[in-house]
Amino acid sequence: MTRRLYRATVFATPRNPFREARALEAFADGALLVNDGQVQACGEFSAIANANPNAEIHDWRGSFLLPGFVDTHVHFPQVRIIGALGEPLLDWLKHSALPEEARMADASYARLIAREFLSALARHGTTTALVFGAHFVPAMEAFFEEAGSSGLRIASGLVLSDRNLLPVLHTSPDAAYEQSQTLISRHHAKGLLTYAVTPRFALSNSDAMLDVCRSIMAETPSLLFQTHLNENQQEVMAVAREFPWASDYLAVYEKFGLVGERSVLAHNVHASNSELQRLAASGATVAHCPVSNASLGSGLFAMTRHVHAGVRIALGTDVGAGTGFDMLKEGLQAYLMQRLCPDGYGLTPAHLLYLATRAGAEALGANAGDFAPGRSADFVRIQAPEGSVLQAVQKNAESPERMLAAIFTLGGAESILSTWVAGRQV
Ligand SMILES: [Zn+2]
Repeated sequence: MTRRLYRATVFATPRNPFREARALEAFADGALLVNDGQVQACGEFSAIANANPNAEIHDWRGSFLLPGFVDTHVHFPQVRIIGALGEPLLDWLKHSALPEEARMADASYARLIAREFLSALARHGTTTALVFGAHFVPAMEAFFEEAGSSGLRIASGLVLSDRNLLPVLHTSPDAAYEQSQTLISRHHAKGLLTYAVTPRFALSNSDAMLDVCRSIMAETPSLLFQTHLNENQQEVMAVAREFPWASDYLAVYEKFGLVGERSVLAHNVHASNSELQRLAASGATVAHCPVSNASLGSGLFAMTRHVHAGVRIALGTDVGAGTGFDMLKEGLQAYLMQRLCPDGYGLTPAHLLYLATRAGAEALGANAGDFAPGRSADFVRIQAPEGSVLQAVQKNAESPERMLAAIFTLGGAESILSTWVAGRQV
């Protein structure tokens, strides 16, 4: 296969900026060398071009190459309810989200939504996503088939619930076990697909259902686990009523062995210090979804407390409570909300890039998210549209880091020129 050398301004965060001062790598006249779907080198154009005289050069000067975005929390059935503003979590679920989730009983409708969803990810530069699925097996079969042919790196699973939602969304623990195992055997570790065990949240699951989740995880250790945690104060109080034996919300999942390095827990807005310490010790990742937190009025995410406790954090759009698929907007919103927090964390462009790329890849165990040699060549080409404000800023940007901040501030789907996974355009 031909080695391809892409010449552009290149950004990546191969190191964690929450722990290391110089985490950002930026090359104003940079290059990404791709061979057989993998990154072979990343650095200054002249050095890489001289060392690889036979590589096929793609001159993309004026464009920016970033690692593909990794969305660690997003719901595929909720594409068409984006923009249902005005309610807190439990009312929004009742009036907007759950009725649409129920429509996924129609597999042909679910397939249509799956296509809209996957196409939206690619158009926004998202190459990898951990996706909350539907409550219905035929809908999940359709979703995995579409995900497999999309070329994207997707982890997802059947959503499990046996109480407190609409009855049509409930299943029994026995059926949940059988159906999950069938989906796992058909789709897990096939191509770029990974299966994720997905109880909706503690409030909608009995002890017996969470015990089924434990069994499924134990039988296939390479699975991922995802659910919601400490999103909204009413939800936290309701969970305390449903699980009187639990010392706090996290303890519910801990009792069933569901909190570990392969677990991604969305939100965690209302976390105690004890929960943060236990999350850090477990190696689990919190999917921070700042647009959703603001839209539903869930609260201000205590990022500083998470960082000081050592909890891993990545970023998620939480469509459809979130207002869209744009991980640049999500990064900007994280920055803005930390500015408003009493004890807010001072996020830099390097933090935003890390949260939107490598942090998510680490959470999902994906060999992607930066441009270290040997990584999958998952990247996004960004170019300021002609006449755009981003283009105006680009003419004046005095440093690559300043430009990266402008990309997060002004970029969006209209500036995503192309999206690549494993060296192939999707
Ligand atoms: Zn969610």
